[in-house]
Amino acid sequence: MTDIVTFGEVLAEFMALETNQSLGTAGRFAGPFPGGAPAIFIDQAAKLGSSAAMVSCVGDDAFGRMLVERLAADGVDTSAITVRPEATTASAFVTYYDDGARDFIFNIANGACAEISPRQFDTVIRGCKLFHIAGTSLFSGHMIDLARQTADRVKAGGGRVSFDPNVRKETLARSGAREALTDLLSRTDILLPSDSELNVLVDIDDDEKAVERALALGVSEIAWKNGKDGARYYDGHNVSHYPSFEVDEVDPTGAGDSFGATFCTLRTQGVAAEQAMRYANAAGATAVSRRGAMEGTSRRDELDAFIAARR
Ligand code: ATP
Ligand code: MG
Repeated sequence: MTDIVTFGEVLAEFMALETNQSLGTAGRFAGPFPGGAPAIFIDQAAKLGSSAAMVSCVGDDAFGRMLVERLAADGVDTSAITVRPEATTASAFVTYYDDGARDFIFNIANGACAEISPRQFDTVIRGCKLFHIAGTSLFSGHMIDLARQTADRVKAGGGRVSFDPNVRKETLARSGAREALTDLLSRTDILLPSDSELNVLVDIDDDEKAVERALALGVSEIAWKNGKDGARYYDGHNVSHYPSFEVDEVDPTGAGDSFGATFCTLRTQGVAAEQAMRYANAAGATAVSRRGAMEGTSRRDELDAFIAARR
């Protein structure tokens, strides 16, 4: 039995060493680092002591082996990560600009992780308490179908669904995208938007009205991430703001996933929302202070020490 399950991309990430370094010019890169939004989420969940499984595919290559070894070393059940010898493990290149902007080149939709089959979920979702959907993984009709079907299977078994939309206006311009995402929203228990993602998703500019709409669709908790401004929590009765912890930002990628995984994992472990939000902020702050998206995931004792040092 696995408490927490996710699916989607596991990828090898390369990061430009200089800020303002163009991805179209020869330059120095650090990597491969293990990455991929759902991979970071599940790594963080396992580090917090829950049984956690990743459903994905990798190629028969060094990136794939590095990813599986790393996830397994951190305690993730990798039995549902299948090796596809004919495909290549997904990868990503990222560069940062002084104004905080980022450029990415992704090789995900053509990578091994695009070939996940529904049967890969069969063993790990038995008794699953939380199924997490990362919006970054919804890059094809096949992946959207997998998300929807698995959400239904998990909910039928009494589990909950979390969803980090990671949506941009351009994503929603694709035909059928808004309907597909609204459909997933109506299956979501814990919603993890950042910035204006929820506004874009429900097409409502006012934050409180956008929250009302999500709750009306069946969402029961919203942990709304706002970078260094911290995060807000909504459950239909209470609205609370939780300030962030002050740290030096070294690499913002992965903060949202570490935050979301910490919140969802602690809630699944029965921790009160207020405490889960504080720990999630600590996990997000730790993530931005380390280079490499998955290098910033934390164990419970590390988060305890981080919070204690800032009291
Ligand atoms: P991602 O880039 O992974 O998609 P996101 O946009 O989903 O991130 P953010 O709002 O950037 O999510 O970050 C998630 C959480 O991490 C924030 O709510 C906050 O708790 C923490 N965090 C992010 N940036 C900082 C920062 N500069 N200082 C302190 N904490 C931060
Ligand atoms: Mg995000």
